[in-house]
Amino acid sequence: MPLIQSIRPCQFVSVLKRHAHSSAIKTRTQWLKDPFKPVNPSLLDMPRPLNLAIMGAPGVGKGTFATRLSPLFDIPTISTGDLIRAEIKLESAIGREVREITENGGLVDDEIVMKLLEKRLNQRDATLKGFLIDGYPRRVSQAETLAYLRPISLAVYLTLDREILVEKALARRVCEDCGTGYNLADIRRGHYDMPPLLPKQPNKCDKCGGKLVTRADDTEEIIRNRLAVYDAETQPIVDYYRKQGKLMEFEVKKGVKDLEELTQLIKSNLKKQQQKQ
Ligand SMILES: [Zn+2]
Repeated sequence: MPLIQSIRPCQFVSVLKRHAHSSAIKTRTQWLKDPFKPVNPSLLDMPRPLNLAIMGAPGVGKGTFATRLSPLFDIPTISTGDLIRAEIKLESAIGREVREITENGGLVDDEIVMKLLEKRLNQRDATLKGFLIDGYPRRVSQAETLAYLRPISLAVYLTLDREILVEKALARRVCEDCGTGYNLADIRRGHYDMPPLLPKQPNKCDKCGGKLVTRADDTEEIIRNRLAVYDAETQPIVDYYRKQGKLMEFEVKKGVKDLEELTQLIKSNLKKQQQKQ
């Protein structure tokens, strides 16, 4: 089937309309090279915009999966933390306000985060293709506001056995000079297959030869507390998306080697969502 026919006509017209109004995109060739052209023809089956949220406890590998899923689905990753940091760098009015708050140890309030998020969501790539949002929402009120701005297609919740998370966190080492991370935990039992990420020479950074150390906040007590805080914070959001039939849980078993299975599962879940509509 020719590619162009598999784009739903309504989508195509709306893209053309945007195209006609956009001064940034001047020719059809440029447009074809640019955003809406999928990397992989199979992605044309995807509902667009494809709005994914990714959740998971610290240490589950959320960032790693997010970086890899985003090109696979041809959607940008949006992290509110990055948006805040970028705004501070810009030294805009909001940026200066946010810097003052964070320097005084305060939390950036919902309204500011929302403003930054809305601005990012209104950019062309996100409106056409969708996005993968990481680290947000953290509260049901934020999930509700996000639903109002851009309804989430699917919330991907990555889980991993608690004891394994603790074991992995305790085995983390970081180069004290360049910050490169390593992991000494060798978790290969049952259906888990997570080999360690060792330096070539014991206790020595591969990149700069620096000494590998344990971060001060990687004690068992702090790790367990961090995970408990995450659970308490996340459970209401998990329930919120589950009630809407938009939650997809995925147990991490092999780290980044789970990517293929995770991708297929997201695709089949999206298909089910489409059929429901
Ligand atoms: Zn180093």
